[in-house]
Amino acid sequence: MSDALRDPVDHRYVPGHGDERYAVSAYDLDLLYVPETNRLSGIALISVRAERRLPNLVLDLHHRLRVDKVLVDGKRPARFTHKRDHLVVTLRQPLAAGDEVEVRVGYSGAPRTMPGLDGDAGWEELTDGSIVASQPHGAPSWFPCNDRPSDKASYRFEVTVPTGYAVVANGVPGRSRRSASTVTFTFEQAEPMATYLASVHVGRVAVHDEPDAPVHVVSSRELADQARHALRRQPEMLALFEDRFGPYPFAAGYTTVVTDDDLEIPLEAQALSIFGANFMSDDWDAQRLVAHELSHQWFGNSLTLQHWNDIWLHEGFACYAEWMWSEHLGDRTADEWARHHHARLAELPQDLVLADPGPDLMFDDRVYKRGALAVHSLRLTLGDDAFFGLLRDWTDRFRHGSVRTIDLEDLISERTDHEGSDLLGPWLRRPELPDLP
Ligand SMILES: [Zn+2]
Repeated sequence: MSDALRDPVDHRYVPGHGDERYAVSAYDLDLLYVPETNRLSGIALISVRAERRLPNLVLDLHHRLRVDKVLVDGKRPARFTHKRDHLVVTLRQPLAAGDEVEVRVGYSGAPRTMPGLDGDAGWEELTDGSIVASQPHGAPSWFPCNDRPSDKASYRFEVTVPTGYAVVANGVPGRSRRSASTVTFTFEQAEPMATYLASVHVGRVAVHDEPDAPVHVVSSRELADQARHALRRQPEMLALFEDRFGPYPFAAGYTTVVTDDDLEIPLEAQALSIFGANFMSDDWDAQRLVAHELSHQWFGNSLTLQHWNDIWLHEGFACYAEWMWSEHLGDRTADEWARHHHARLAELPQDLVLADPGPDLMFDDRVYKRGALAVHSLRLTLGDDAFFGLLRDWTDRFRHGSVRTIDLEDLISERTDHEGSDLLGPWLRRPELPDLP
């Protein structure tokens, strides 16, 4: 077994992933992917800083990928083993706290999703291409990493695919390079990113830029008109959310990838979202998800939970953003949505503790709706000006950082006449559904 130090909360939600003994400042991933054979070859350069004395380094990597070579600062380590999704690198000399090393891992194989407590996640083959949907445990399906959400790092991607395919990844795209039979795409993700938000999409796609906004739509040519039509209000959503939540957090702007394949759910990644063709419609159930995924750029991607028990800090706010979009459209107000869902939740079992729902319920719809109700209760108590001011303080103070529920409660106590834990405690720490203020 490995010597990795697991956070007890994260270990409950995503067992066996992440190591508290070290942190990663940068991942540089050089990948070659052939969709026809689903073959991935990678070289990962990982900049590591020891947080304490470290005789070995434990990286998360799916056991189905084969590790060919490991170097630490250019030299072979004492040894390495790769078993049960852990690459354990035994160092020649233990690192002292504060030491930094660069670990180079060469690996290859046929990537696929990894099973977890809440289903499969990670690299997924499409009919003609691939996507990555890693939340919460799928990042090691395609690169070696310290897979804990509190360890955010910068990324660089260099991805080579056969001619005819294109690549979208997190970050600012660089110039692509062509050879006789391949194309290489590069992306720089400078703002810190959690491993589960790292994403690469490979497909026969092109970028369709929207004028006047840092919003890009990527799809096949066949889907382009439908995708642009269904996503045409994203610039307006972005403007609304910037007004309410503060400046958009990422230099790369926002790219929506639409796959030819239908997908069960859309998914957020940093500066990206991925939607299946089945969501490209004007129906409210599709449009609310367009707003939901965009709002995750603030709540989840810029401000990322430190531990998985606080998933409501992502999903409650993203669900509330749906209601805000409805209100902006002149349809149902956020208050009407809140009362509607409060009545529905009151009929359901009240056995969920929002601030620690457990791995089985972390993506339960009640986490989303009750989380949004907790947010709405703040708005009702504080009033619109103080409420939206608080949201902007929240996204500003913890921009690109890691957050816990207690950080939000402390901010409420500091910025308002209320104790944060008094306002939020009944929603977050007790199973019974409180009344709206
Ligand atoms: Zn969400």
